[in-house]
Amino acid sequence: MAESRTAAPDGEAVAEREDTDKSPEATDRASEEARAAGVPKPGQRAEVSNLDIVRHYFDGAAERLGLREDLRTVFWSPYREVTVQIPIKLADGKVHVYSGYRIQHNGARGPYKGGVRFHPEVDIDEVRALASLMTWKTAVAGVPFGGAKGGVNCPADKLEQSELQSIARSFMDKIEKVLGPTRDIPAPDVNTNAQTMAWFMDEYGKLHGHTPAICTGKPITLEGSHGREAATGRGCVYMFREAAPHLGMSPADTTFVVQGFGNVGAWGARIMQQLGCKMVAVSDAHGAIRSDTGIDADELDRFVKAGGKLPDFEGAEAIDPEDLVAVECDVFIPAALGGMIHEHNADRMQCKMLIEGANSPTTPAADGILNEKGVYVIPDVMANAGGVVVSYFEWVQNLQHFRWEEREVNDKLGTIMRRAYREVSSRAKEEGIPLREAAYLVGIERVVEASRTRGYVS
Ligand code: NAD
Repeated sequence: MAESRTAAPDGEAVAEREDTDKSPEATDRASEEARAAGVPKPGQRAEVSNLDIVRHYFDGAAERLGLREDLRTVFWSPYREVTVQIPIKLADGKVHVYSGYRIQHNGARGPYKGGVRFHPEVDIDEVRALASLMTWKTAVAGVPFGGAKGGVNCPADKLEQSELQSIARSFMDKIEKVLGPTRDIPAPDVNTNAQTMAWFMDEYGKLHGHTPAICTGKPITLEGSHGREAATGRGCVYMFREAAPHLGMSPADTTFVVQGFGNVGAWGARIMQQLGCKMVAVSDAHGAIRSDTGIDADELDRFVKAGGKLPDFEGAEAIDPEDLVAVECDVFIPAALGGMIHEHNADRMQCKMLIEGANSPTTPAADGILNEKGVYVIPDVMANAGGVVVSYFEWVQNLQHFRWEEREVNDKLGTIMRRAYREVSSRAKEEGIPLREAAYLVGIERVVEASRTRGYVS
C-alpha cells in the first residue's frame, strides 16, 4: 500500500491511499491507518461535521447575495436551543441518561418545522445544522414554515419498543413548552417513524387535549396523511423526472444505486422502479449488495421488513459497502446519514446524477469533485423536501379535521416539487452556478425578505 499526501480541493493536505488488497486483515489495517491519518474508515462518514457542511454552503450564498455581516449572524444562529436530560431504565436494570435537543432555527416564514432523530451520534451541532437546513428547505419549497430539528442520542436500533416509547414520551414531556401547532411541529427522521409520532401526539394530548396538528408523519389511523410515509422518496423521484430529459435520460434505460434502504431510500427505490428504472446496487447499516440484472426494490423491502438482513437477499452479490459509491449507474441516491460522500470517495463515483435523499450527504470537498466530474447534483435542500411538503399537507388537513385522497396528495406534492425545481434551476442558469448554490440563494432570499417585511431586521 502506498500513501501520499496531496492537496484536497479545499486546499487542505490529506492522506490518500492506493489499496487493492481487500482481505479482512488488510481492511482492518487500512481502517487503523485511516483513523491514525484522520481520514474516514472505508465506506464511512467523513470527519467534516454536518454543521461545517451547512455553514460552508450558507456562507457561499451569503457572500454571493452580499448579505451584511450582522445579518449573516442573525440568519446563521438559531433562535432557540433546548437541551434536556432523558433518564430511562433499560432492560439491564440500570438508568441510562440520554441527551435530547430541540433547536428552532428561524421562524420568520411560519411555525418551526423539522424532524426528530434517534441516533447515538446525535449531538447539538448536528441538530443545529439540520435545523438550519430546514429553514432553507421550507423556503425553497415555498411552504409556510420555519426550520427546526430535534434529536436524542440513544442507540435506537438496540432498544426495545417499550424503551423507545419511554424515550419518546420523556422527550415530549420536556420540550412541549416550546412546541404547538402554531409554534413548532415535529416529524419523523432517522430511526423515528409514524409510531413515534403517535406517542408524541398522545403525550402532548395528556397536557393539552387531543391535538393532531402537534406533529406530522402520524399513522393513518391517527390523522396522518395519505402519502406522507412515501413523500420524501417520491419527492426525489419527481426531481429525477424533471432533470432526466435535460441529461438525455429515459427511465427505461436508467440504472440507479441507493445508499441507505430506510424510509427515504426504500420508497425512492420502489417509485423509481415503478417508472421503469433498474436498481443495480443498494446498502443499509448491515452491508451492501449489487446485481447488474437488477434488484427488485419491492421484494427487498418485504424481505427487510420481515427481519431479513440486506446482505442476505437472494439473487444479488454482497459487496463491500465501501465499493457502493463506485458502482456504475446513471443515478446515485444517498439516503442514509450525513457526510458519507467525501473527498476520499467522491472521485470513485460513476453516476451522472446524484439526488440527495439524505441531509448533508455530500461534503463541500466532495461537491467540488462531483461538479468537476460533471455529475448533476440535486441538493438535499430541494431534493428531499417532499417530506416536509406532505407534512405541510398533513398539518393543513389536521387543522381542518379533513382528509385528502392519496392521489390528491401526490399530485399536489408533484406541483410543488416541480415548481421548486424550475425556480432553482432557472436561477442556476441565470447565474451560471450549480443547483445547490442556487437553492441556497433562493432559500436565504425568501427568509430575509420575510424577516424584513415582519420588521425583525432592517
Ligand atoms: P431511516 O432510519 O428510515 O433509514 C436510514 C437508513 O440508512 C437505514 O436503512 C439504515 O440502515 C441506513 N444506514 C445507516 N447507516 C448506514 C451506513 N453507514 N451505510 C449505509 N446505510 C446506512 O431514516 P430516513 O427517514 O429514511 O432518513 C434517511 C435520511 O433522509 C436522513 O439523512 C434524513 O435526515 C433524511 N430525510 C428524511 C426525511 C423523512 O421524511 N424521513 C425527510 C428529509 C430528509
